[in-house]
Amino acid sequence: MVLPYKHEPFTDFNDKQNRADYEAALRKVESELGKDYPLVIGGEKVYTDDKLISVNPANKEQVIGKASMATKEHVDQAMEAAKEAFKAWRTWTAEERAEVLFKAAAIARRRKHEISAWMSYEANKPWGQSDADTAEGIDFLEYYGRQMIRLGQGREINDRPGENNTFFYQPLGPGVTIPPWNFAFAIVCGTTVGPVVAGNPVLMKPSENTPVIAYKLIEILEEAGLPKGVVNFLPGDPAEIGDYLVDHKDTHFINFTGSRATGTRIYKRASEVHKGQTHLKRVVAEMGGKDTIIVDHDADLDLAAKSIVDSAFGFQGQKCSACSRAIVHQDVYDEVLEKALEKAKAYTVGNPGEEDVPMGGVVNQKQFDKIKDYIEVGKQEGELVYGGETDDSKGYFVHPTIFKDMDPEGRIMQEEIFGPVVGFAKAKDFDELLDIANNTDYALTGAVISNNRAHLNRARYEFEVGNLYFNRGCTGSIVGYQPFGGYKMSGTDAKAGGPDYLLNFLAPKTVTEAW
Ligand code: GLU
Repeated sequence: MVLPYKHEPFTDFNDKQNRADYEAALRKVESELGKDYPLVIGGEKVYTDDKLISVNPANKEQVIGKASMATKEHVDQAMEAAKEAFKAWRTWTAEERAEVLFKAAAIARRRKHEISAWMSYEANKPWGQSDADTAEGIDFLEYYGRQMIRLGQGREINDRPGENNTFFYQPLGPGVTIPPWNFAFAIVCGTTVGPVVAGNPVLMKPSENTPVIAYKLIEILEEAGLPKGVVNFLPGDPAEIGDYLVDHKDTHFINFTGSRATGTRIYKRASEVHKGQTHLKRVVAEMGGKDTIIVDHDADLDLAAKSIVDSAFGFQGQKCSACSRAIVHQDVYDEVLEKALEKAKAYTVGNPGEEDVPMGGVVNQKQFDKIKDYIEVGKQEGELVYGGETDDSKGYFVHPTIFKDMDPEGRIMQEEIFGPVVGFAKAKDFDELLDIANNTDYALTGAVISNNRAHLNRARYEFEVGNLYFNRGCTGSIVGYQPFGGYKMSGTDAKAGGPDYLLNFLAPKTVTEAW
């Protein structure tokens, strides 16, 4: 029997035993660092000479693993394997496919701390954030399995006398999944198993930053009994295989999470019909955010400061949901800012592979340089009131950074930084709070801190974001509770972890018989 869905609980790291267990997982992972990882094509492990070297962002010298890199030929082979696998996989019932996901969830739950520990090393996720990432991956497995069982029954439609109608869903065919590094288990898992449970084989190209954790998912799916060729694993250089995967005539969909630049490029390329292609490609693109927390004059100011700081600095600000703009009513601006500066002190940096630190390094040199440049821009555009220090001598460390009195139209308030940087700006009333909140290209997450019911009611409809939160921070959506995704330049709003998500990878069919 399939029990009702409930999200995976988080580990309490105040508990001594839990801390000891996590430390043991870190030591186990440490003993396994530096290994070679293969491509997986049609269930076969393929080792190549060219390798992606994945390192610990807090300790550049420490190699996490070396991942084989796929070429265009490997993509062709993987597509053939996927087409072959599709023949049988599409005939499995929704329940049979869902069972593979449920078993994978059970395995992931057993290996929970180990998966999280890999993330603490490879992505530098602090323990609590890492634990939540693994829990979210488990949630995707449990939730999408159940959603597919529901959709597998088709939908109710009408019959007329002498006529029988049925309406049901079929898979599309092989597709491509290009997940990000920032939710190195959760989003890799969700964007892969969603299309897969719907019956579609997948060619998955993990991020160059986190191929080892992505490989852990492959191990889990294999152990859970996923047939060969249903998920093919293709780490590689985006310049070599990215466009090729998207352009391939047999690609039916591209399930992408990442930057706006790459997302819009995929959207455009996918619209072209190539020689031998017999279908239109679907694109799911979850892109960036420039997420705002607004603080009303009648509000819990401690809660406001905590929500801003936690949403801005959690996982080094490397979430598309992260708060990078705090727009505060002029009457409470100074007080909220002062409280935020105080709370920011808790966000010290360190190496999550060694200890339970609030922040690790940012993901790589490129991101480090980019964030550092933005900090310089911020100093021109407003006043630096906290942090601003960076240090890449050992790892890619950026300290939590707060700017005040920012121009809402300036670069710091308009461009996605993807680092621990938040800008404060003032507004004179609730109208202006909302106006500033909406003056970006993005519409992903946002939060309103207010005790005024009428203002919350207005924000519900006027605050342009896919995920809106009242009186809490703007990160940390939970599968099946807060379906996640944005519109405008944040993407196609597919709502990962929501009841409509799998429809992106299904073709509805109507069959009518005259009786
Ligand atoms: N779902 C995550 C959250 O609510 C963000 C996902 C992302 O950064 O891509 O914080």
